[in-house]
Parts: sequence; C-alpha cells; structure tokens
Amino acid sequence: MNSLAVTFAFAAALVAMLGTRLWLISRQIRHVAQHRGAVPAAFADVVSLEAHQKAADYTIARQRFELLTTAWGGAMLLGWTLLGGLDAVNAVVLDWALPRWGALGYQIALLMAVSAIGSVIDLPFDLWRTFRIEQQFGFNRMTWALWLKDALVGTVVGVAVGVPLLALVLWLMAAAGALWWLWAFAVLAGFTLLMQVLYPTVIAPLFNKFHPLADEALKGRVQALMQRCGFKAQGLYVMDGSRRSAHANAYFTGFGSSKRVVFFDTLLARLSPEEIEAVLAHELGHFHHRHVPKRLVTVMGVWLASLALLGWLMNQPAFYTGLGVQPNLMAPNHGLALLLLTLAGPVFGFFITPITAAVSRRHEFEADAYASQQAQATDLKSALLKLFEDNANTLTPDPLYVRFHYSHPPASERLAALHAHS
Ligand SMILES: [Zn+2]
Repeated sequence: MNSLAVTFAFAAALVAMLGTRLWLISRQIRHVAQHRGAVPAAFADVVSLEAHQKAADYTIARQRFELLTTAWGGAMLLGWTLLGGLDAVNAVVLDWALPRWGALGYQIALLMAVSAIGSVIDLPFDLWRTFRIEQQFGFNRMTWALWLKDALVGTVVGVAVGVPLLALVLWLMAAAGALWWLWAFAVLAGFTLLMQVLYPTVIAPLFNKFHPLADEALKGRVQALMQRCGFKAQGLYVMDGSRRSAHANAYFTGFGSSKRVVFFDTLLARLSPEEIEAVLAHELGHFHHRHVPKRLVTVMGVWLASLALLGWLMNQPAFYTGLGVQPNLMAPNHGLALLLLTLAGPVFGFFITPITAAVSRRHEFEADAYASQQAQATDLKSALLKLFEDNANTLTPDPLYVRFHYSHPPASERLAALHAHS
C-alpha cells in the first residue's frame, strides 16, 4: 500500500461524500420550498394549509442547518486527518500518558482525548439545534438543567461502559495474535447482545421514566391485541417523552425477555384508543417479522468485516501516513488505527446508506401490512396523519433525498400502501 494512494482515495471519497450530501440537502430544500404553496391533492381534505406550511418551514430550517453541520463536519474530518490534528493530539498524549500509565493507558487516554475534543466542538451545534430550531417551532421542552443532567449522565455511562470494553479490545489487539479480530468480534457481539437487555432495563431508565400502561379501558383492548399477536403482555411501557420534546413516537426494542414496546406519553395524549391499537399493531409487526434480530445480524456482519479490515490496515504504515499520522515507534499503534478507521470508515460507508435505508423502509411497509391484518388500516392511517402533522414531517420530500436518508417511507407512499390494505 502506498501512502499517496491512501491520501488520494480518502480525499476523493470525502469530496464525493460531501458533494452528494450537500447536493441532496439542497434538493430537499428546493423541493419542499416549491411545494410549500399548496397541500398535495391526496391530503387536501385532511391536512390544513397552515400545518403543511409549518412542516415545510420546519424541514427547510433543519435542512439549512444541516448544510452548515455537514460542511463543518467535513472540515473537521480533514482537520483531524490530513491537516494533522490527530497527529498533534497523539504527540501530546503520548508524551504525557505513556510514561505514567503505560501502553494500554496511553491508548485509552488518546481515544478519550479525541472523543472529548470532538464532543466539545459539536456542543454549540447540539445547543443550537435544541434551543434554537426546536424551540422556534415549539417542539423543545428541554430545560438547561435537564440538558446539563443528560450530558453528565451520558458522559458517565459512556465512560463506565466504553472504557472497559475499549481496554479489552486494545488488549486483544496486542496479545491475541494474528486472529485477534475474531476474538474482538466475539467480545463485541457478546456486548451487543448484553446491551439489548441492559439498554431498555438499566440505561434508558437513567434518562426517562417508564411505567406500564395504566389506562384500564385501553389496557383491555391492548392486551387482546397482544395475545392475538403472541406478545408477552408485560412488555408495554409508557415513556415520559414530553419532558424533552413535543415530538411523538413509539418504538419496539430488545428480544427474548427484554423485548418491549414503548409509547411516548405525547403519542398517547394525541391518539384515540383505536389509533393506539393500530400503532401498537404496527410495532408488533416489527416483532412478528423479527426485524430487531435481523438488524442485529447485519450490524454484526459489518463489525466482523470492519475488524478484519482493521487487522490488515493496522500493519500497513501507509494507512497512518496516508491519513496524516506518523505511527508510533516506541508504543503500540492499535489505538491510532482504531481512531483512523472510525474517522475514515464512515466516509466510505456513506455510499451504502441507500441500501440500509431501503431495508429499513421495507420493514416499515411489512409492519404496516401486519398492522392492517391485526387492526384497522383506517385507524393506522389516521394515526399516521396525526403523527406526521404533529411532528411537522413534510408531505413533499425530494424523492432522491428519501432514497438516501429516509428510514421510514414518506407519508404519501405509506398511506397509499395502507389504502391498498383497507
Ligand atoms: Zn415501524
């Protein structure tokens, strides 16, 4: 491998990725703006012009901000790699941490330093998104105190979970021989399975309150549905999403005994019992079609391939020098290699996002089809319309933007498919 070829491949992929993303965003802005004047014919009698225009303005405000963050993210990536940012941080951390904490301690310090600097740089953008854009459109319910608490708890959990895992992987890279990546994969796969159980039961409750559905009338209806669908009845929870945002949602998570359906309180407040049943039937459709285990298998496949790739790349000096870093002579380079792959990998990975988005959209169609067998398709349609309106999702997205970025089908496609079922 040749250093100049690495630089060239990375720079070309970065330019292509940034160009594609910025082009798609500007298409989305243009498309939404062009259709702002009138509600699309299919929705004319169910969506008001006012709601349609609010959705357009909200979409455009977010996409304009996205133009800025995308360009900034590209500049940062260039700064870390080819412009020498990672090399400079590494020199400082190496000098300071290696004599004090040894090879493993130095590498953990390096990864933590880079992630801390990255978080601080992203901070103003996160704040602007929450306290300016979401606020402006009436969605933000987050206070500064809650934001600060989230940031602190998130950091503590991230360090408590991430550092031991990282230490284990770095140790395997040094000690487990040429096939270390298979061992590391086993560790990460086990960790992912463990998180499927720990996240909903231990970590998510650090941020939100979850309680079993209490409304008795609704409960009877919901339990009958869950029984029909073969889902254990204790897996239904209501979450206090209204503490942070007015956006409404429902999701399905976990597997085995940890599987559960979570409703945001904002969603329950807005929908009729029939509509709630239909939304629940959609979530149970994800369960019926085993979408969570399928996604996990895909994620693990990507990890196995990435780790095997890392096993090869970390022994190529050109991988480091080509991305703007001088490999260490007196200390292991595993931490550096891990960082470089984390930075450069998504630039190449971006080009497979249309595939993952398409799979995700297909899963949504499957869950909708299942819901229209187990509940009324018309109830799901009216529930979706309310959710689209409440969340100010645009009814007129750019078709190409949808293909790349939408994990859920746009309203027009989803309602048309449901119409075929009703
Ligand atoms: Zn879904």
